[in-house]
Amino acid sequence: MAGAGLNGGAGVEREPALIGVLALQGDFAAHARVLSGLGARVREVRTVADLEGVHGLVIPGGESTTMMLGVEREGLAEPLRRLVSELEIPTLGSCAGLIMLDRDHLGLMDLSAQRNAFGRQVRSFESDLDVRGIEGGPVHAVFIRAPWIAEYGPQVEILATVDGHPVAARQGRMLAVAFHTELGEDTRLHELFLDSVAAAASPC
Ligand code: GLN
Repeated sequence: MAGAGLNGGAGVEREPALIGVLALQGDFAAHARVLSGLGARVREVRTVADLEGVHGLVIPGGESTTMMLGVEREGLAEPLRRLVSELEIPTLGSCAGLIMLDRDHLGLMDLSAQRNAFGRQVRSFESDLDVRGIEGGPVHAVFIRAPWIAEYGPQVEILATVDGHPVAARQGRMLAVAFHTELGEDTRLHELFLDSVAAAASPC
């Protein structure tokens, strides 16, 4: 079940989770569509002010060099780091979003992404992948000029591999995948993310 709502106790209706989707470049609209379909509220993030009050963050696929330039231009790097590492806002990075989270970009996950690891456009492919934490059979994953995780530290849990190369990982409340699921009908990855948003927001 998607945990898009932030309903705490019985009978207490609260607003659905507000998810910020970094919208400087890339396929942010596809993520927004999936998240809205699962009942979340979505805000496109282009400036620091747009981060105010979000309960979760998505960094989409696209082109990581362009996206990082946009982040720097808008002064978003530090506010994003604070949001994810200090406030521990659950974060999903997909493809270029995985690269953005790595040691050489925002430095939030203890891993190094190897860009275009499967080759360029000609090596884009689809695959049914077993992803740890996602039940109900393999996830249909679309790889588009995808990275893989070349190195990672002890806090990183690998959730899926292709030919022995890690392509999905979790570290605390950060979830990074080298592939796209927002382009198809399988919403389980976004449900997993929204579940962690709901878990982070509910009092223990
Ligand atoms: N190849 C892109 C990059 O290096 C990522 C591709 C994607 O996000 N689909 O940033």
